Amino acid sequence: MKYFSIHIAVLFVALAAILAIASFEARGQSPRAPKAESRVKPTVLIKDGRDDSAGKGASTASAISPAAALNAVLRNDLTWTFGGKQQRGWYLYTPLISHMLNTEGDATSNGFAFALARWQEHSGLKPSGVLDEESLNAMVSEWQRRRLKNRTDAQPNQLVTAPASDFYDPERLAELRQVERETYAAYQRMVAAAIADPSLALARAAGGGLAPAEKYLKIISAFRSHEYQDQLRRQSPQAGRAGLAVNSPHFTGRALDLYVGGEPVDTKDSNRALQVQTRVYQWLVRNAERFGFRPYCYEPWHWEYVAAESREQ
Ligand SMILES: [Zn+2]
Repeated sequence: MKYFSIHIAVLFVALAAILAIASFEARGQSPRAPKAESRVKPTVLIKDGRDDSAGKGASTASAISPAAALNAVLRNDLTWTFGGKQQRGWYLYTPLISHMLNTEGDATSNGFAFALARWQEHSGLKPSGVLDEESLNAMVSEWQRRRLKNRTDAQPNQLVTAPASDFYDPERLAELRQVERETYAAYQRMVAAAIADPSLALARAAGGGLAPAEKYLKIISAFRSHEYQDQLRRQSPQAGRAGLAVNSPHFTGRALDLYVGGEPVDTKDSNRALQVQTRVYQWLVRNAERFGFRPYCYEPWHWEYVAAESREQ
């Protein structure tokens, strides 16, 4: 019975893929297809063959485009690799992806597929509206490209010691509470903005945004010395390269691990799934850049302060 269901699912995916590709090829290669139109309206098709040019996604089941139907499957099932490790689906990255595509639509909607097709066209990819491995890899490369480039170790005079009240663990030793000076100032501005933002609504009773007493956005880890990093690696030898890198951006004092929910720094998919759904994480995705912080896509808690001089855009 189980295999039977799997076969049905595989058949469905294959059929949807064939339909999507067939529709695309038919339109793309038709000599009658006006070029300008295909530029303006990327190839996101609905079942009757018309473009979903409204980009909002229709509510009736009959109007779900093949691209959106495929995205609904790939979101959970796409096989791809990151850091040499096999990954399944891209659902953990939907807040980052939606932000990159500048869309609020659900990842399985026609509107999302439409926004994706536009982005694909911009990025020189086939504008299929389907978030396949090629498109996902292009997004990951873009996120990685935007990370901290200057990995020079922080000098002692560049570091300040933040108060224990800023930390997830209020008992954390002073020597483990050091942060690069500009990064810490930017962090303080960002937290103040989060507290003042009613959209976060984490403390409705207090009438504000993020309650100062909340654990959210507290610093789990900031500057780490080589010695401390070595010690962490010895304590958890099974931690992946991603978690406790030999060449860690934490050596710069400009990388902050912030509490965004769940287990603070656990890369298990189930934990990250919980974290990326928190309002705080989603707020960071939309707002951190204003304060100079950029994400590391694989770890929802890890944010890097990219100083103005090293910004490219
Ligand atoms: Zn980190």
